[in-house]
Order: sequence, then C-alpha cells, then structure tokens
Amino acid sequence: MDLGGGGQQNLNLKMSDTEALKCEKCGGQIFQAVSILRRVSPLVSPTSQEAMVPINTYQCSKCGWVSKKFLPAGLTAEEVNAVESSIDEAVSAEIQMAKANKEKK
Ligand SMILES: [Zn+2]
Repeated sequence: MDLGGGGQQNLNLKMSDTEALKCEKCGGQIFQAVSILRRVSPLVSPTSQEAMVPINTYQCSKCGWVSKKFLPAGLTAEEVNAVESSIDEAVSAEIQMAKANKEKK
C-alpha cells in the first residue's frame, strides 16, 4: 500500500472509486500523521554511532490506534501500540483503586 504523499495525482479520482480506511479498533475514519522513532544501535549503524530513524505513519485520531496497514514490514501493531495500552491499563487500575478506596470510606 502506497501512503507516500503524491496528493496531486489523486485529484482526478472520484470518491466513488475510493473506499474509507477504517480504524480496526473503533471504526474511525480520521487519521493524523505521527512518527515512530526507532533507535539504531551503534553496533549495527553504518556510522557506528547511535541514530534515530523516524518512521512516518498514521494514527487513529479517535482512539490513537496505529493500524498494521500503516506500518512497515517488521513492525507489528501490537509492538507500536503496546506502550499506549499499558499506560491505559495502569491509569484504569489507578482509577479502580481510587474507587475502591472511596467505597471503603
Ligand atoms: Zn480508532
């Protein structure tokens, strides 16, 4: 799938010839451009120095999910979304603890 710029080429396209890409998680159709940063270890870097490689991709603007469809081979949706979901879990665990404490009082 080609996600590269090339917006100009698409001007002649009829919307009826296109179909909406939907978020796998919430069905949202609005995405925002985001970057994933990958660190390159100095051991494998061509310059022998640590490097940062930005990977441009798209994120659901509703729920924040990055679809596998927008990722280069070798990166899984689970991998790039993992931190986000563990933060959510930590936050929800905190909220549940707070609720439990309130109920005790
Ligand atoms: Zn979504």
